[in-house]
Amino acid sequence: MIVSTQKPLEQIVSALDGGSRVFIIGCSKCATVCKSGGEEEVFRMQEALADAGKEITGTIVIDEICHMLRTGRDLRSRQEQVNQADFLLVLSCGAGIQSVAEVSEKKVVAGTDSKFLGNIRRFGQFEQRCSLCGDCRLNETGGVCPVTVCAKGLLNGPCGGMVDGACEVDADNRCAWVTIYERLELQARVGTLSRITPARDFIHEAHPGNLKLGK
Ligand code: SF4
Ligand code: SF4
Repeated sequence: MIVSTQKPLEQIVSALDGGSRVFIIGCSKCATVCKSGGEEEVFRMQEALADAGKEITGTIVIDEICHMLRTGRDLRSRQEQVNQADFLLVLSCGAGIQSVAEVSEKKVVAGTDSKFLGNIRRFGQFEQRCSLCGDCRLNETGGVCPVTVCAKGLLNGPCGGMVDGACEVDADNRCAWVTIYERLELQARVGTLSRITPARDFIHEAHPGNLKLGK
């Protein structure tokens, strides 16, 4: 899921400068799970902006806001409230914010910061495990991502800073390459580590990404 956090209220209010009427949009998927833009957060934002002197013309929580056709359809169902607004405030990941910008000519305000693609450890605890590099190395690293879990993204590790299995960048984190070694040792595959992995070819990360199934 895409992990996002809400921007500080003062930043949001500042971005809404120059208009008083706001339509608030959330997302029922990732932004709901990470509590940046679900029903509860949209309701709280409505109250906070009303206290800040804004008029809320309406709110909606869209089911999967990154789905642009659905977002367009759902906003058309609230056309009158949307038309009354000076701003559309979006509480979702950056993809969702741009879905709204794609389907509406209104001024769109981002109310969140998108952080990373996250695994869910347990409720309210998210961990980054994949950076979407486009050239997955997990087959060679025992299922541990060196690009993401190693603080330096090293393809050949560990670096000289590892101490007693801890990462030099953040001693609370285990060195990814120690974990990779341990996993491969369990699978009797440590021999794969004798190979030097060449530098990444960043062409795999060229963006914007575009994929059309069936082409
Ligand atoms: S190597 Fe890491 S960042 Fe790249 S696709 Fe695999 S898990 Fe994701
Ligand atoms: S200590 Fe390990 S995880 Fe940390 S930067 Fe060095 S190789 Fe990467």
